[in-house]
Amino acid sequence: MSTINSLCVYCGSSSGRLEAYSFAAHSLADALVRRNIRLVYGGASIGIMGIIANRVLELGGQVIGVIPQALAHKEILHNHLTELHITQSMHERKMRMAELSDGFTALPGGIGTLEELFEIWTWAQLGFHHKPCGLLNVEGYYDSLIAFLDHVLAEQFVKHHHRELLMVEKNPDALIERYLNYAAPAAKQWLVKEEC
Ligand code: AMP
Repeated sequence: MSTINSLCVYCGSSSGRLEAYSFAAHSLADALVRRNIRLVYGGASIGIMGIIANRVLELGGQVIGVIPQALAHKEILHNHLTELHITQSMHERKMRMAELSDGFTALPGGIGTLEELFEIWTWAQLGFHHKPCGLLNVEGYYDSLIAFLDHVLAEQFVKHHHRELLMVEKNPDALIERYLNYAAPAAKQWLVKEEC
């Protein structure tokens, strides 16, 4: 069983083509506030990032933003967060977000979202953290990525138990429930890379 006090959400600095992406950000925000879980995110006021932060704040929840100095202007920093961390670099931003969070989720987003999700999943594969990772597959946005990951598995470039570390759900409550029930695989699985 895991305790989730803070959830890191990676998501687009754009809003995307469909309103469904914004609705999904709202429903994840609703689920977080209902469960008294803090949002940790990239600190911007634009795109899906701004939408989820604003919704959590509107509902009386807590939002921690983490943004590198170099993007504070470009990404249009959110000025009304519960807590704001300004970092010196992108690497420091991602490390701080990881330290502040008990789990990680991606909503629809672009290259930055994918990079952040893959990095935190890689760190889980390596046993650098033991926190749950997953994504919300809104309107099938991640279908083709999931199909590709199955191909990576079939071609034996990822182990089954490492593929399983990335949980996929359509519904925020279902994903959070899985996080709460998550127990990281035994450490020895990471040490014996060629088995399984
Ligand atoms: P995007 O999904 O591309 O709209 O970006 C979402 C978030 O990812 C934004 O906060 C970006 O600052 C961040 N981001 C963009 N590029 C990178 C990168 N190379 N490494 C880490 N984060 C990034």
